[in-house]
Amino acid sequence: MRCDEVQSRLDAYAFEELTPSVASEVDSHLRSCPRCRQSLARLRRLRAILGEAEAPSRPEGFAHRVMASAHDAANRRSSGAPWDPIRWWRSASAPMKAAAAIVLIVGQLVGLAMGRDVLSTPRQVRDSQVTASADGLDVYNTSFLSEAPEGSLAGSYLALVTTRDGEASE
Ligand SMILES: [Zn+2]
Repeated sequence: MRCDEVQSRLDAYAFEELTPSVASEVDSHLRSCPRCRQSLARLRRLRAILGEAEAPSRPEGFAHRVMASAHDAANRRSSGAPWDPIRWWRSASAPMKAAAAIVLIVGQLVGLAMGRDVLSTPRQVRDSQVTASADGLDVYNTSFLSEAPEGSLAGSYLALVTTRDGEASE
């Protein structure tokens, strides 16, 4: 066994997580290699220090899992991908998707209504006498929503607009 192979197993060796045959290979290398013996001694000192703070029982394979998750985190960082909406969408749960869809739809409807108000404010709105008799859909140019099924989001929005129009006329 070479030094780098031993070094990569020292942690598991110190925690006695190696299979007996691998452990004996590490043993024989350590007998002939002062450098790796020194590394093991450092590791054991560190372990003794940590041991005072650590819980007495440690789950099997803990060191390997920590190293694996650190490796994964490093890989994620190095891939350096900025926030990806498509990946987010794939990994999002169903309620998150529903919430996001509602936010998008409401945002579009509000933006659409506001844009229409600003760009083409109907004369009826400024002339309060006409508003009372005017059809709510025409006043807000929302007739494009009139075929929306009742109870749908567009339908609810339509009801809201029509109600507001009625109140404004008083
Ligand atoms: Zn060595």
